[in-house]
Amino acid sequence: MFVSKATILHADVDSFYASVEQRDDPDLRGRPVIVGAGVVLAASYEAKAYGIRTAMGGAVARRLCPPAVVVAPRMSAYAEASKALYRVFDDTTPLVEGLSIDEAFLDVRGMERLAGSPTEIAVRLKRAIRARVGLPVTVGVARTKFLAKVASGVAKPDGLLVVPPDRELAFLHALPVERLWGVGEVTAGKLHRLGITTVGEVAALPKEVLVSALGLAAGRQLHALAHNRDPRPVQPGRRRGSIGSHARSAAGAGRSRKSTPSCSDWSNASLAGCARLGVLDERSASGCGSTTSREPHVPSR
Ligand SMILES: [Mg+2]
Repeated sequence: MFVSKATILHADVDSFYASVEQRDDPDLRGRPVIVGAGVVLAASYEAKAYGIRTAMGGAVARRLCPPAVVVAPRMSAYAEASKALYRVFDDTTPLVEGLSIDEAFLDVRGMERLAGSPTEIAVRLKRAIRARVGLPVTVGVARTKFLAKVASGVAKPDGLLVVPPDRELAFLHALPVERLWGVGEVTAGKLHRLGITTVGEVAALPKEVLVSALGLAAGRQLHALAHNRDPRPVQPGRRRGSIGSHARSAAGAGRSRKSTPSCSDWSNASLAGCARLGVLDERSASGCGSTTSREPHVPSR
């Protein structure tokens, strides 16, 4: 029995900096674009197809993809685009929790009569961002923040993926462990050494085993997430770090443009073996996007 519906949207612009560059210069559309010469700050999906990833060294990236067009970052353009993006978010629902310059949770509960189902709202949100901001965005819809974010990660680029409450565990358990918050290369390596490659295999382990393998906090968190336990509500008004500080830290460090203070990274999880299971999937393109992101600790129950 499910007490709540899938009303949480996770919206995340695809390759944000690179998409702004392609939006503003028609010559760059359809071409592999790298933002940042020293370190890759962002890569268009055409560049990602060559194996280029955020935070990779520029020389390595150019070797992987000789035809890539390398452009200097324009932080003020990204800050403008972010403001326009958040105007669309704020016009969609009062319950918007910003995660970064190009990414937010939106809760659309109770809006059915006024604005339609969460899926209809998500479709309109994608269209509105395309029309008003000129950028491609991927939206995941689920009952929990955690799962909405997993869904958008799976659906990238330019996708929409809704996980109905009765399909949550079937969807989640088929995914590789790298899709879980908090599972970066190190944790994935530890799990692989235990013979664990899927979220379903994590869910089958007793919590004590995970805690002894990964430590108390990480073990508990992983156990909770593998069972899709994430009680955190969308917290409206929350904006993690200012847009300016995101832009500055990205320009300075060239590593992560997210300033949230915690714990996880998403690695390039393979989508091989990811069962769709009737999950609504409106991806306009196939392929596995890679994103780097950070998330707060998820309390376990
Ligand atoms: Mg993004």
